[in-house]
Amino acid sequence: MVRAVLTACLFSSALFANLVSTQDWPVNRSFYDYLILNKIDPILISELDEDSYVAVRTILSGTTFYEHREEKTDRLLHALIPISEEQQISLYCNKDGYRLEIVPVRYAIVRETLATRIQSSLQADLIGITGNSRLAHEITAIFDDRVDFRRDVQKNDPIGAIYLRKVRLGKTWGSVTVESAFIETNGKRRYAFYYPEDEGYYDEKGNALAGLFLKYPLKFIKITSEYQPAGRQHPIYGQLRPHLGVDFGASAGTPIYTVAEGVVRFAGCQRTCAEGYGKQVVIEHKNGWQSRYAHLQSFASKITQGARVSQGQTIGYVGKTGVTTGYHLHFEMRRNGQTTNPLAIKNVRQDGLKGKDLSNFLALVEKRRGDLDYYADTAKTGVNRISLIDANGNSNAN
Ligand SMILES: [Zn+2]
Repeated sequence: MVRAVLTACLFSSALFANLVSTQDWPVNRSFYDYLILNKIDPILISELDEDSYVAVRTILSGTTFYEHREEKTDRLLHALIPISEEQQISLYCNKDGYRLEIVPVRYAIVRETLATRIQSSLQADLIGITGNSRLAHEITAIFDDRVDFRRDVQKNDPIGAIYLRKVRLGKTWGSVTVESAFIETNGKRRYAFYYPEDEGYYDEKGNALAGLFLKYPLKFIKITSEYQPAGRQHPIYGQLRPHLGVDFGASAGTPIYTVAEGVVRFAGCQRTCAEGYGKQVVIEHKNGWQSRYAHLQSFASKITQGARVSQGQTIGYVGKTGVTTGYHLHFEMRRNGQTTNPLAIKNVRQDGLKGKDLSNFLALVEKRRGDLDYYADTAKTGVNRISLIDANGNSNAN
């Protein structure tokens, strides 16, 4: 986590009028550049710990951020700059100087329904109606194992979903959660229901459609060091240090897959490639999840900041960059900045639900299926609909 740090900030009281604006983060602008531009001592960054150092380098170009300036002097009083879907840098000036913290991103959540008939292709139609490419991608991914979109889908086949969308600063923000969806092909209606417990998708009987994560990021698994947040004897430093991920032994150049669909937030080295985690990839997934892959020999092509990746895509190759005793992959899973044991998470692709999970899920299906059938029948009448069901959350400007 980012420690609050201080640097000189000539704070003047509320004598002057203030200006609030939102802008898009420019291409190739670093947080360091931003500090310099605002005449803020970049010592703020150099005092951060390793994690935060990576965090401030995960700002994606095009991200809408918020600024608050003193009108007369143009001095920056407060900036909120997202570093992930759920977290943002809060840089502000108070009487002690400039301070830096990581705080949650604020957004509203709206629930909407969509029902239509396919005209050209699923992706094109859904993007055309909703303007939301993440939603189109999500619906396709959910049915991908069951429906061959090129062969099975005919013109006028009904499709629809009930989904949650985030809204921040008046625009769609981040990922989409499809709560339930249907597609009808060859006269057969197929359903998908989201099970919040493991963030996976299942058909109406509880058979798995799509899992949030693959269990492992490598094909052949040899665990050489487990997750030990309380600390282990570090093989090089000797001292007791927390081990915040799992190490997989593998030979040089072994392909590494991303465990879920997402966006590359960081692909590079921390300060230098000889230190710490060496060459590292950080991928952001939905619902505040992040996976990290360290000590890479090299990155796969097109794995650069901002790139979209799909589940199972090769993102890099096993190496021994950074501080390590040999070739291996250091793999971490985090949620909203907190590490978790990658081998203990249950949000992995599985065969189907069982026991208590199955009965809870079937109760959920019972509640949701009627709505879905209603929208499926509506779609058949040829009416395109996209409508708001309800909204909640904090719709503050920041
Ligand atoms: Zn490790």
